[in-house]
Amino acid sequence: MALTGIQIFKLLPKTNCKECGVPTCLAFAMNLASGKAELDSCPYVSDEAREKLAEASAPPIRPVAIGRGVRKFTTGGETVLYRHEKTFYNQPGIAAMITSDISEKDLETKLKVWNAYQYERVGLNLRPELVALKDADGNKDSYAERARQIAESSEFNLVLMTENESVMKAAIDVCKFKRPLMYAATEANVDGFGELAKNNDLPIAVKANSIEALIPLTSKLMDMGLKDIVLDPGSREIKQSLEDQVAIRRAALKAANRTLGFPTITFPCEMASNPDMETLIAAMHIAKYCGIVVLSDFSGEALFPLLLERLNIFTDPQRPMTVTEGIYEIGNPDEKSPVLVTTNFALTYFIVSGEIEGSKVPAWLLIKDSEGLSVMTAWAAGKFSGDDVALFVKKSGIADKIKEKELIIPGYAAAIAGDIEEELNGWKITVGPREAAHIPAFLRAR
Ligand code: SF4
Repeated sequence: MALTGIQIFKLLPKTNCKECGVPTCLAFAMNLASGKAELDSCPYVSDEAREKLAEASAPPIRPVAIGRGVRKFTTGGETVLYRHEKTFYNQPGIAAMITSDISEKDLETKLKVWNAYQYERVGLNLRPELVALKDADGNKDSYAERARQIAESSEFNLVLMTENESVMKAAIDVCKFKRPLMYAATEANVDGFGELAKNNDLPIAVKANSIEALIPLTSKLMDMGLKDIVLDPGSREIKQSLEDQVAIRRAALKAANRTLGFPTITFPCEMASNPDMETLIAAMHIAKYCGIVVLSDFSGEALFPLLLERLNIFTDPQRPMTVTEGIYEIGNPDEKSPVLVTTNFALTYFIVSGEIEGSKVPAWLLIKDSEGLSVMTAWAAGKFSGDDVALFVKKSGIADKIKEKELIIPGYAAAIAGDIEEELNGWKITVGPREAAHIPAFLRAR
């Protein structure tokens, strides 16, 4: 049974040495209890305490890391069934499948195209993480060569898809530096694949034809000392696949079933007859509850909505999304362009910048840090006061970029106009529209 933070704290050394990355043993205990930390992060836990804690403090769904370096990504590690109970921690990875009979040149072209699918949103770079390389013909040399090409020439992490041990070994030999996911151990090959994963310290997926059939396989791998496991219950029919995802998540979180406490991998590419349906199935699995979703290809019209859906679901609902404080140029503004200011709540930024863009009037948009609050809330909470806004405008350096010093403030913050004017010598303060939708007419009429 899971221990509370206080029960865990009693078993820790209580020296507050900070080596685990948090300031106190109590904070570490709380993180351990909520599945946000791993026991191994504290080097000073006694053997006796370790034994007591190991089972109780393991996260109900183990976080599994794939890849290395800056592109490493982690899936799993979730502690709640519904996001509103707390938050979700690790976004599911998005992969595209490719077969090993592709030519070197075609693969090179494909990787270049795929690599270009990157989108900037709320200061984040949204992109897919994985390529799933499927063994087309059992030829270990060509499979290993394509695996090497992907590993060495792209930033994508790899899923090695073969059930043939010699093909898997050949690929691991050339790309284990990237820490690929081995897919998949089955009833027929679990011993050999388990050894390969253990000897090379790699994450491994298990595949069976039902959830029940997965359990002996994961048990066997766990007995071999393997921890980084990904589950594929084998369902390729939409309803069954969704039911399996939910059942696995519930078994791990509600029934504390350790043999199912791992992230999952799903294959919309094997469930749909057309790209639209594939995208819809992928969207369903991103919402509930896959760890990696494999598509048949990457295309902008499918990928972009999936990336946005993923971003929305895996955003902490207790923290508003923000954009970075600073000066944003919209439509190549010059020294005569108007200057507007608003708060750093991401939604505010997107709506205001969108309306300015739509007006076709180039402008400078100043984004002031208001801890992610909208204009009215920030003003009421004292995070968008006249003094603060004036200080921010002075520090921003916008005065060096323009000739006429006029600042347009949001209509909802009209009350701070006088305070700003007092603090900003030589500036004219204009109160803009209350609603963002009126910005285009306002700017064009100036
Ligand atoms: S490393 Fe261990 S002893 Fe040190 S602060 Fe963290 S939990 Fe406490």
